Amino acid sequence: MILHPFNRRTLIGGLAATVAAPAIVRAQSVSDTPFTLGVASGDPSPDGFVIWTRLAPKPLELHSGLRMTKTTVNWEVASDDRFATTVAKGEAIAHPELGHSIHVEVAGLQPNRPYWYRFASGGAMSTVGKARTLPAPSANLAQLRFIAGGCQHYEAGYYTAYRRLAEEADVDFFWHYGDYIYEGTGFHAPGSNPPVRNHHADEPYSLDDYRARYAQYKLDPDLQAAHAAHTWWVTWDDHETDNNWASRFDQDGTPEEIFNLRRQAAAQAYYENMPLRRTSLPHGTAIQIFRQASYGDLLDCWFLDTRQFRDDQPCGDGLKAVCPEALDAKRTIMGAEEEKWLFNGLAKGTRRWNLVANQVMMMPLDRRQTDSDAPQWNMDSWAGYPAARKRLLDHLQAQKIRNVVVTTGDEHQNFAGELRAKVTEGPALATEFLGTSISTGGDGVDLSPRYKAVLARNPHCPFINSQRGYVVHDVGREHWQATFKVLDKITTRDGKLSTRAKFAVERGQPGLKTA
Ligand code: FE
Ligand code: CA
Repeated sequence: MILHPFNRRTLIGGLAATVAAPAIVRAQSVSDTPFTLGVASGDPSPDGFVIWTRLAPKPLELHSGLRMTKTTVNWEVASDDRFATTVAKGEAIAHPELGHSIHVEVAGLQPNRPYWYRFASGGAMSTVGKARTLPAPSANLAQLRFIAGGCQHYEAGYYTAYRRLAEEADVDFFWHYGDYIYEGTGFHAPGSNPPVRNHHADEPYSLDDYRARYAQYKLDPDLQAAHAAHTWWVTWDDHETDNNWASRFDQDGTPEEIFNLRRQAAAQAYYENMPLRRTSLPHGTAIQIFRQASYGDLLDCWFLDTRQFRDDQPCGDGLKAVCPEALDAKRTIMGAEEEKWLFNGLAKGTRRWNLVANQVMMMPLDRRQTDSDAPQWNMDSWAGYPAARKRLLDHLQAQKIRNVVVTTGDEHQNFAGELRAKVTEGPALATEFLGTSISTGGDGVDLSPRYKAVLARNPHCPFINSQRGYVVHDVGREHWQATFKVLDKITTRDGKLSTRAKFAVERGQPGLKTA
């Protein structure tokens, strides 16, 4: 990330392409600049991407310290990091209705290359972000790299994982699997460290509450660095709204018509704070999260939304033995429309690989601790929707689709495993890499006694780790490698990153191989 100091002459002259990088550093207190929340890019196309910022001179105050009027923001995209050659620029309106956020859909750029972007408003200039366009859909692509991460409880630890992944080179995109904010305190694993910092306010319910929660998270410089460094595909999970929500249902039995008001506030705040296209602007509670992207002829990405359209968790939610409700053949975790979209897309796909980027664990994982217990399943994961999982795996088998890699988050542990034809038995039909958390759960340990028992009981899932970090995916034409990177601690800022495990998948041969 390059910090561009404030320079009034640059701004009076507009964002002219000929203006050199500012040489004079003008002091400016943090409270003066509206660009306290950083910049972001997302949802790339072969000729562009979304660039985002949100004006907030006083980010934690009501209306973020702004008058409730429209504000003009200048934006600029250059083909070099010093802005010697501007390739696109314009003015955008920061609407008070949208929390003074800006979502510019930049177009007309070249495919598969980096660009740099920045914003200016009221005499202040933002930091610079780097964004990358998609390769042309027909491009012959030898390889790509993406990073998977998410689950960033602000109180649980520092965002060192974001700092480190911002420094990763040759990254085509970062995929966020959700839990960008947490609405509640807690969610700290038993025995984990106490909070290292605190939420500024109680649980959010109103739009202004959620705006302030996003603002607090986005003030973190490590998170800002990760946004500035890479182009993101964002998907949400539960904590952007409320723990373990499921379509119209929250976990507390709140009447649907009342919970829907909260969903509406949460969906709008999510849109305002993410680099999403206008096609994801919410209508009431509805927001378009599931979407598709192609990286040349190499990879089709299917970004799922397993929260908005799912049936309620069965058997009372939580870790439970299977009850009859869970086995209902009609149960859905994606909803009919999204399921049809995914199944048709997978069947028609012609690319080397399919990435199914999903929020909650798809492979069945028996979590019982002793032989005398009944098998225990996480009812918030696909284990609570076994008919939906079977429909997907049956489809892969019937259509002979053998190039699917499933990526997941939510668990705050790392897992590598196989999706098999007969629950935990039979041939592998797809491979799943589930990434841990950026911070949720605190420091963690390599393998807790509880997960040691789970590891022993689930031979289709031979890797479990309970530290914080992210997963780097290197996708080649025949070979896919997943690298699990973990931090020794996140309760201090000097955590050390190391590679904990690597796995490979060979194209056409679902299942794990040692890398
Ligand atoms: Fe989480
Ligand atoms: Ca979650």
